Amino acid sequence: MAKASNKYVYFFGNKKADGNGGMKALLGGKGANLAEMTRIGLPVPPGLTITTEVCAYYYAHHRTYPKELWAQVKAGIAGIEKLLGKRLGDLQKPLLVSVRSGARDSMPGMMDTILHLGLNDQTVGALEEAGGNARFAWDCYRRFVQMYGDVVMGVQKRPGEDHDPFEMVIDGLKAEMFPGESHVEDTRLDAEELKKLVRQFKYLIKERTGKEFPADPWVQLEGAVGAVFGSWMNDRAIVYRGKYNIPSEWGTAVNVQAMVYGNTGERSGSGVAFTRDPASGERVFYGEFLMNAQGEDVVAGVRTPKPVAELGKTMPDAAAELERVRKTLESHFRDVQDFEFTIEDGKVFMLQTRNGKRTGLAAVRFAVEMQKEGLITWEEAIHRVPAEQLDQVLAPVFDRAAIKSAKCVAKGLPAGPGAASGRVFFNATRAVEAAHGGQKVLLVRVETSPEDLRGMIAAEGILTARGGVSSHAALVARQMGKVCVCGAHALQVDYGKKTLTVEGQTFNEGDFLSIDGTAGEVYAGEVKTSPSEIVQVLIGENGKKLDLKESRICQDYLQLMKWCAKATRMHVRTNADSPEQAANAVAFGATGIGLCRTEHMFFEGNRINAMREMILADNTGDRKKALAKLLPYQKEDFSGIFTALNGLPATIRFLDPPLHEFLPHEQAAQAELARDLNVPVEKISKRVDQLHEFNPMLGHRGCRLGIVYPEISEMQARAVFEAAAEVQKKGVKVRPEIMIPLVGFPKELQLQIEVVNRVAAEVAQEHKTRFNYLVGTMIEIPRAALVADEIAKDAQFFSFGTNDLTQTCLGMSRDDSGSFLPKYQELEIVKQNPFATIDQKGVGRLIKMACELGRQTRPDIKLGICGEHGGEPSSVKFCHRAGLNYVSCSPFRVPIARLAAAQAALEEKEKPKAKAKK
Ligand code: ADP
Ligand code: MG
Ligand code: MG
Repeated sequence: MAKASNKYVYFFGNKKADGNGGMKALLGGKGANLAEMTRIGLPVPPGLTITTEVCAYYYAHHRTYPKELWAQVKAGIAGIEKLLGKRLGDLQKPLLVSVRSGARDSMPGMMDTILHLGLNDQTVGALEEAGGNARFAWDCYRRFVQMYGDVVMGVQKRPGEDHDPFEMVIDGLKAEMFPGESHVEDTRLDAEELKKLVRQFKYLIKERTGKEFPADPWVQLEGAVGAVFGSWMNDRAIVYRGKYNIPSEWGTAVNVQAMVYGNTGERSGSGVAFTRDPASGERVFYGEFLMNAQGEDVVAGVRTPKPVAELGKTMPDAAAELERVRKTLESHFRDVQDFEFTIEDGKVFMLQTRNGKRTGLAAVRFAVEMQKEGLITWEEAIHRVPAEQLDQVLAPVFDRAAIKSAKCVAKGLPAGPGAASGRVFFNATRAVEAAHGGQKVLLVRVETSPEDLRGMIAAEGILTARGGVSSHAALVARQMGKVCVCGAHALQVDYGKKTLTVEGQTFNEGDFLSIDGTAGEVYAGEVKTSPSEIVQVLIGENGKKLDLKESRICQDYLQLMKWCAKATRMHVRTNADSPEQAANAVAFGATGIGLCRTEHMFFEGNRINAMREMILADNTGDRKKALAKLLPYQKEDFSGIFTALNGLPATIRFLDPPLHEFLPHEQAAQAELARDLNVPVEKISKRVDQLHEFNPMLGHRGCRLGIVYPEISEMQARAVFEAAAEVQKKGVKVRPEIMIPLVGFPKELQLQIEVVNRVAAEVAQEHKTRFNYLVGTMIEIPRAALVADEIAKDAQFFSFGTNDLTQTCLGMSRDDSGSFLPKYQELEIVKQNPFATIDQKGVGRLIKMACELGRQTRPDIKLGICGEHGGEPSSVKFCHRAGLNYVSCSPFRVPIARLAAAQAALEEKEKPKAKAKK
């Protein structure tokens, strides 16, 4: 790690930079791209970046810095001073800087930025003279003291206080100046009043901290740098990292950059823009700006900005320059950029750029269109869509008929697409509580701030009364794929009364509201939702399908899937136990069923009673009688599924859960069953007692049922083959793959295979036909993985049941892990929930080992996975690397798994190249 040069500071300015865009790990995303933009000649105010290595050092050494650091910072500042002809602390031409955090991945609004550093009672005079504007100078100064006091000196709301102490001071002054008026805008305070504020702020700081506000810019700088590093470990940053799995070791960089001013008058302004629309994906310049304002005003969402398209009206030159910037950014970065700019007296400055966060909808459209434009290859297009995001594209929208009759009460900006209905909550904590209680929640705020993050995560959707498309709410919603409408001005939110009033109608906390984040509309009450366009085209709704020509997103989606098919090696199957589910999955591109759970079939209608009769039977004869009743049902299910699959393979798992799950446990239900079956109720309660297990997960289940009661397996095998014979007769190919669950000993599997083969031969003879079938096993307990070579002598395929394999490998019950797993994740004992993402080190090692051992014995053994993990992108990629033939997941995750599988295949091909480059 230690580099010979110990270079901790990277300079950028005047078309030259020490760093570049490829150095995000070292310089953070912001720093690396500031360097890159400088290199390609974009107008970036000069500055320096302190590396993330310093952050790591800082935390490893009791919050101290490497000894070489400050000399390097001084040299960097000297470089800025030389370029601009200004000096830090100079009385005539003071250099003012911002101190900005910048992690490897952007963490919007999570870390604190300090602006106007370098101001003090003396230098403020120079700023005043330079601009000829006292109000402007003092406004900067008071903002600096306020920010610095808050972020660096820790003057913040104390427990029990409702308002920020600085805002209290401002409100106090306003009340004094404009008695009786409410909502006085900051702009009405003049220079003298702002001077007064600065004095009062400093007094507040002294009173709260016992310390003077530092006047020396170098002291200010040291404090600010420390605060940025310190903010890496603040609560908000930790919550954010937890949500996005950003390791805490990464650390943040610090950027120190010369200030530019968007608030010097009517030829100035600030804005945030995207090179294309990040919500719909349309190829239009998208974003917003505020005249005579600084960047923070745009992001804070306090004033509602104007669309960038209107900039040409007031500042045509700047608008043309921005259009040029837009083109340069896209052709250089070859991806949609999200950038911050400031216009100072007509001149455009670039303050930041990064790959724009986008909705799933936009991600698909960007990828497909950029390939068509020749900007990227089809392989890159596949990488451009995060597999998880396809979820959003498949998410429901409001039902067309239901929305027509719903009452639209307000309009706002469409900030996060999709449809959401829920009970309104006006505060994050209460929203989280309600969501945990199982309610659908809509978080409604005047505007959101990073404090609301937990509430935003818990909510179905987010609605704000103020703020634009680059406000905090919009930014976070886009990233999380939450439905969001922001800036719905008609809403009057009263936090005190916990009410929302609009168009004379008042909603209390807990009332239903619905929002359409694609159109930016707010509806009273709960509105029915309907499937996404893709689902409407491919699967249809109520038997009706949407025409592909009418859905551009579906066209783009199908193009993407075509590319995936070209790249991929691994198949994607589905977990389905009904013909309908199977058909849906096939429409999404599944190439078979990877897990058909037969037990679900026993719960429907009055089948459950036949099942219960079977369980209650005292002897084999009675049991066989009850099983005979079940046979036609099972057979019917299988023939439906075989027909729907139309020749694709179906993995059918024999009965798996412990029998007590099928019996009623309450007395009343037992009595009813006794009546239905005409047996004494005691018989039932006795049997329930007998079947009671201390640890059902490890009890009499899986193949252990078929071992003790072979007649159950026999019935299931007969149902499979009789159905197969019937469907085959109609000319449809049938490929059953019978799967024996919970095997740990080779003999278990042998005994079950004997039953299956015997029945298959019998049915084949009865129907004068032949079957193309396999018998294999699940690998879901560690012993099976350990002796996989022996099991493979009999098993024609393995399917990793990673739900149970995770439980048994970790010795951790999924259903009981809720009480400790969150703490484990917080402490990073486990990086991710192992029941959602495969534990690659532990469970993954068992999988790899079983694959190798299995192939040793039977080189052509078919390998698959059927646990929940089969639809989770990083687990899918792991499965590809482990060499599995297929993954299997729920029907609606099939597209996600297909995309992830294609990405994994491409990554594998690209890897040797990447290595060669190094
Ligand atoms: P974040 O990572 O939260 O976006 P930034 O470091 O980008 O934080 O800064 C917050 C705001 O301050 C942005 O609007 C940015 O444009 C503005 N800003 C940062 N540095 C400067 C600067 N040197 N001159 C003018 N505005 C700046
Ligand atoms: Mg920023
Ligand atoms: Mg299992």
